Amino acid sequence: MTRLLHRQTASALPVAVGGEGIELIDKTGKRYIDASGGAAVSCLGHGHPDVRAALHRQLDQIAYAHTGFFTTDAAEALAERLINDAPEGLSHVYLVSGGSEAVEAALKMARQYFVEKGEPQRRHIIARRQSYHGNTLGALAAGGNEWRRRQFQPLLIETHHVDPCFAYRHQGPTESDADYAARAARSLEDKVAELGGENVIAFVAETVVGATAGAVPPVADYFKRIREICDRHGILLILDEVMCGMGRTGTLHAVEQEGIRPDLMTVAKGLGGGYQPIGAVLLGGHIHDAFAQGSGFFQHGHTYMGHPMAAAAALAVQQVIARDNLLANVRAMGTVLHDRLTAQFGNHPNVGDIRGRGLFRAIELVADRGTKAPFDPTLKLNARIKKAAMAEGLMVYPMGGTIDGARGDHVLLAPPFIVTEDQVGTIVDRLARAVEAGLQEIAA
Ligand code: PLP
Repeated sequence: MTRLLHRQTASALPVAVGGEGIELIDKTGKRYIDASGGAAVSCLGHGHPDVRAALHRQLDQIAYAHTGFFTTDAAEALAERLINDAPEGLSHVYLVSGGSEAVEAALKMARQYFVEKGEPQRRHIIARRQSYHGNTLGALAAGGNEWRRRQFQPLLIETHHVDPCFAYRHQGPTESDADYAARAARSLEDKVAELGGENVIAFVAETVVGATAGAVPPVADYFKRIREICDRHGILLILDEVMCGMGRTGTLHAVEQEGIRPDLMTVAKGLGGGYQPIGAVLLGGHIHDAFAQGSGFFQHGHTYMGHPMAAAAALAVQQVIARDNLLANVRAMGTVLHDRLTAQFGNHPNVGDIRGRGLFRAIELVADRGTKAPFDPTLKLNARIKKAAMAEGLMVYPMGGTIDGARGDHVLLAPPFIVTEDQVGTIVDRLARAVEAGLQEIAA
């Protein structure tokens, strides 16, 4: 009997004992293609020799040194690299142990920034429905997923939620992208007007929405409008790229495709590729300067921040991605994946949408393509597909539809950046069988 209080202890999970390239291997020797990168984490696949070597070297040098006493070469080098490659204006890095911690830190940075600037009345956070920013209380408050929030209400930080930018679900049939971008952004403008711009700290959004809605990219110019609204009211823009960042969408940062700069940006998952737990906040020079000229430092900290093993792993992962030009493969294989999904599911009566960027793709499943009506979430189509996929030797990341019918079940794909064309074909073939198995079960 397991003593682990993890998500699925009730059902017996396979025991992972090995990993090689894009595959994981269980105790029985069965292999699974990691087409979801776990949860969009394993960007380099498993067992990469360069990362293993870097971790061995770091372990032989120093495994842990508390940041209250020391800095380390690994943490310094990672910070240097992240800033060299960051969108202009981001000047400093705050290293943490994962995505939720990064979001918590970013929210607190935004709050402290305004306190230092003598604007303590700013206390409202605005985020979007159909979003996920993590499971710690602050990050949960920012997230706009009612299923996750409901039983923890009232949340400690009161957050206001506005419309997402979700073309498949909310763009009118004859509405242009430009009109839809303006309408979606107006939802933020209206909320700011209601709260008073001078009272708002930050707007938080995933650049490309991940697990909650399924690889949903913004329409063109949406973020330009968001940036303009934030600037007009002095509101900070926090982009959460924990899932969509670090190369997943074909550029190192998803925001590079939007032509704007955030004030704060969170990254995690693909930063360390799963070789170590790590996350980071990249912050603008103005935020750093407000701390430096104010109380002197950001009032925060965790025991494992800047952990040298985590920093060494992340540095090695990022070096391999650059050396092997893997972002070019993300773009090329992303197109292949999109084309294969379209060939397989483009006319499928229960696939309403095929979307995403780079190697961050999803299909949305619907009971009726014409009306876009989702399946009844209690049928748990997503869980059935996941189970069938695991039987096929395929890891995908299916999420359930929402109770309020805001979207259908979807299957998220986020394979490692080293995936080949043949492997993409195998992923789509196995996925097609798993989707059919799931649909047959609910029809029975
Ligand atoms: N933000 C986004 C966009 C995420 O997708 C996630 C995790 O899925 C998080 C934050 C939280 O990250 P973590 O699970 O590492 O705490």
